[in-house]
Amino acid sequence: MFHKFLKLAAPVALAARVLLPWLGSNLALQAATDPPAWFQRALVGMEVGPTGAQFGGGRHAADYANRFDGAEIVRRSVAANAEYLVLWVRDGEFTFHESKHVPRPAGFGDRDVLREAVDEARKHRLPIIAYCQLQYPSHELRQHPEWKMRQANGKPIDHLVCFNSPYTNSVKALLAEMLGYGIAGFHLDMVDQGFGPPHGCWCDHCQKRFQAEHGRPLPKDIDWDSADWARMRQFRYASSDRFEKMLVEHVRQQAPQATVDFNYHGNPPFSWEVGQTPVRHADNGDFVTGEAGAWAFGALAGSFNAAWYRAATPGKPFQVAIQRGVRMYHDQTTRPLHDMRWEMFTLLAHGAFVTLIDKTAYDGSLDPVAWERMGAVLGEARSKRAHFGQRPLADVGLFFSSRTRDGIGRDKPAAWFQSIQGAHKACVYEHLGFGFLFDENLSLEGLQKFPVVCLPNVGILADAEVDLFRKYVEGGGHLVITGHSGQFDELGKPLARPVLEGLIGARVKSRLEGTDHWVQLDATRLGGQLGQGLEHRAQKRPGTNVATAVPFLVRGPATAYEPITAEPMGKLLDSHRASLPNPAGYNADWPLSARQPVGPAALLHRVGQGTVLTLAASPDTATAGEHHIVEARRLLANAVRLLHPRPRVRVDAPANVEAIVTDDPATRTLRIHLIAYNATPQTTPVKERPYIMPGLIEDTPIFRATIELRDGLKTAKPLNRSTQLKKRANRVEVTIADIHDVIVCRY
Ligand SMILES: [Zn+2]
Repeated sequence: MFHKFLKLAAPVALAARVLLPWLGSNLALQAATDPPAWFQRALVGMEVGPTGAQFGGGRHAADYANRFDGAEIVRRSVAANAEYLVLWVRDGEFTFHESKHVPRPAGFGDRDVLREAVDEARKHRLPIIAYCQLQYPSHELRQHPEWKMRQANGKPIDHLVCFNSPYTNSVKALLAEMLGYGIAGFHLDMVDQGFGPPHGCWCDHCQKRFQAEHGRPLPKDIDWDSADWARMRQFRYASSDRFEKMLVEHVRQQAPQATVDFNYHGNPPFSWEVGQTPVRHADNGDFVTGEAGAWAFGALAGSFNAAWYRAATPGKPFQVAIQRGVRMYHDQTTRPLHDMRWEMFTLLAHGAFVTLIDKTAYDGSLDPVAWERMGAVLGEARSKRAHFGQRPLADVGLFFSSRTRDGIGRDKPAAWFQSIQGAHKACVYEHLGFGFLFDENLSLEGLQKFPVVCLPNVGILADAEVDLFRKYVEGGGHLVITGHSGQFDELGKPLARPVLEGLIGARVKSRLEGTDHWVQLDATRLGGQLGQGLEHRAQKRPGTNVATAVPFLVRGPATAYEPITAEPMGKLLDSHRASLPNPAGYNADWPLSARQPVGPAALLHRVGQGTVLTLAASPDTATAGEHHIVEARRLLANAVRLLHPRPRVRVDAPANVEAIVTDDPATRTLRIHLIAYNATPQTTPVKERPYIMPGLIEDTPIFRATIELRDGLKTAKPLNRSTQLKKRANRVEVTIADIHDVIVCRY
């Protein structure tokens, strides 16, 4: 899979012995004596590495990287407005510094790119972060095949190294060499245990350690129904965690000011196979860093990942890496300026600091057009620095359960990830402020930061989590529950007594296993609120007094409930598939038409001071699926609005415009970032029709938005001169002719 080839992103690192609340690069607090570390003050930086690293099995032509020049890269980075440079030093085969352990490319001679860069960077006070690949050490594995991961059948996995093997010592020796150059830190890429089968590790080191830690042998193979496999997953997570911590400690001992960051893989689409969980592995090193990129993860990945990293490492800076290439890091192309601006400002508005990745030509030379464009993007980012880093306002917290990822998602997690990804997508399109919550660090205090918390089809919930949700609602919080939430035990087996029934106020009559589910709203007040903006709401037909609504598809898991104390609304319908003699034999890719009611569509339940609103279907899953109709998405958004009818800021804008609202209470300033995704249409792809790559953003669009502040508004000003703004009382109307603008509102 492509990740094997990913360059991995980025850089980073830093040092701070004291980690302070991250208030934005312009606002970072300082300890009484320590100046802020580089990553606490940086907003944008570059990462540069030679195209060809990771390819060709180390057999390169004579001109490979022979113009890869550390001093020149530093000068170009400074000219391009970078505030730090992640320099590619070590890949699987070679290194670009003088090493006793790893060779330089043949034909490269005695040049030392790291030395060139460090010497030049000193003149510019530019922090140099050494990129060091960890996970595909072809050179070391040729010398030590016994360090390879092993499958359950004993066969080695040739490209993967075991983190419980003595490989650790070889990494430590290499890092010690690089620290001798006086670098600012390391970007270590990456601590994954593979992105798909075959899976490890059953090597002798792991056998021994598992036996010692768990008092039993490793399970014979992967068995999702067994508690031993659950132990094995914990063992895998612990292996990566321990490896990372050992490297951090090693660097700390050698150079306390040098930073360490790991390219993180605890977010979707990555799952158990990588060997990480969302919070635990984000916390290692000085800050979390990961990759976005529409080419690999879709155009919503920037927004999703930034908010995810924030939630996984509360109070710390977080970094996201993007690339200049159209299709991929190494492809030698350069995206249009506005395409890079859209991604950059999405990430900055969410509070990330951003590394822009450049891959040189095969011979190591730099593309002047690419550098001009990258310099423009970084320069604009720095010119807007004062507007990033403030606290985001959130209407809804999206709860993610790593236990459900493993127990329900199992070896096909993508289908289950649709729930959280669709919930996020709905928030972006509907301009709801959102944040993430994780099972690993869930607390009442964390829940109470959100007026509404959404459990999008979260199958597995521990009793302690349900207790927290109950306390949250009793104290005035609001829950939206969808799909099969709370219906499975730790191993993913159905529970006789689903754990959310008390909060929902209804009994689970049956769990519907198909995905062709339909929702029909009714003419009650609740039905009217859930149907806001939908033609599918109940309407009186001409000449009658009967209000009926046309059902709409909400494709995904659903539950037939029997209300006990909750107020039911509307109908959940199954499809005509249910009456077929062989339902599975009918085209499984396409949903079938609505048939008959099987339960209520929604349930409203007052609990203490708060409310639980349960949707029997999964509009979240539907929104991220192939049948992503507007009605399903709006149903989810309306559920949030019904529970939280008077948000502090309400934004109305086109669905392709993301709104990110931040608050700076000290200056009584709300900032509304508006960022337009304006991709161009694509033609039929050569491969895997119709799954096209997204088009590129070439032009600035013109769009309108309205902003309404609940608690009063003194002044409102756009950043862009071209933006037209009309203010009437607490309401602002803007017409923006750009990819990004910020409406700065004083209250
Ligand atoms: Zn092993």
